[in-house]
Amino acid sequence: MSSVQPGCLWVVATPIGHRDDLSVRAIESLRAVAVIAAEDTRHSRPLLLHHGIDTPLIALHEHNERDAVEAIVRRLAAGDSVALISDAGTPLISDPGFRLVRAARAAGIRCVPVPGPCAAIAALSVAGLPSDRFVFEGFLPPKAAARRGRLQQLAGEPRTLIFYESSHRVAESLADMRDVFGGEREAVLARELTKLFETVIGEPLAELVARVAADPDQQRGECVLLVAGCGEEADAKLAEGRRIFAILREELPPAKAAKLAAAISGAPRKGLYVG
Ligand code: SAM
Repeated sequence: MSSVQPGCLWVVATPIGHRDDLSVRAIESLRAVAVIAAEDTRHSRPLLLHHGIDTPLIALHEHNERDAVEAIVRRLAAGDSVALISDAGTPLISDPGFRLVRAARAAGIRCVPVPGPCAAIAALSVAGLPSDRFVFEGFLPPKAAARRGRLQQLAGEPRTLIFYESSHRVAESLADMRDVFGGEREAVLARELTKLFETVIGEPLAELVARVAADPDQQRGECVLLVAGCGEEADAKLAEGRRIFAILREELPPAKAAKLAAAISGAPRKGLYVG
């Protein structure tokens, strides 16, 4: 294809479920490059073959990224065109590729985006939560204390929050969100997007937690969690709660100070202190 110039790194988005969500331009560029760097070559091959793409594949994943980057940048500098794909969606978005793009750009190599599916954006596009400003948080820490700590840092965030989560932790993470953000905060669980069992449920966190806990089907597959930003009133309560907590903390143990500060301010206790 004439538009694939030599020595360029093509960063190509691939489907997040429905295999026909590979754009015409993605197919053309993947056919035309000298080599495709894929996160998992065995995973990507069936999709590529389905679209009649038989370009050679090399592996670029989080365990070999440092070594592979050097070799790929050398190839690019020698004039080969290379495409980067991940297992699903847009490379670099909670996927490998950052080191490669950074090194390629540092070496003066042109990096060309071939945009397409991204689970976070697909979920936001149907969630019905404010989409003018949002924050992509990727995956939360898997361990409970670190996860709650991260959520606490986000309790006063006014923009819509977007998280990736694995199905076996979705119930736990939602419960932590309810505790830290308060049960009334609106949230959306977007599951299996573009696939057979696609489900998008929007409810206050308290109801969503109860629904997911009661229905194991809601804990299967791939999911994106979205949470409305903190409204002005909740933000003011949180700020007041944190101010009171800081004063009480001088005289009282943290758990007691948080309990009192939450009762006085109306802010969720876990938004003030994680213990
Ligand atoms: N690079 C990808 C993108 O652009 O969305 C994300 C890769 S990340 C390793 C995988 C996570 O994305 C999953 O754990 C899930 O949170 C989310 N995800 C991917 N495909 C999805 C789908 N079809 N429906 C809902 N969430 C999905």
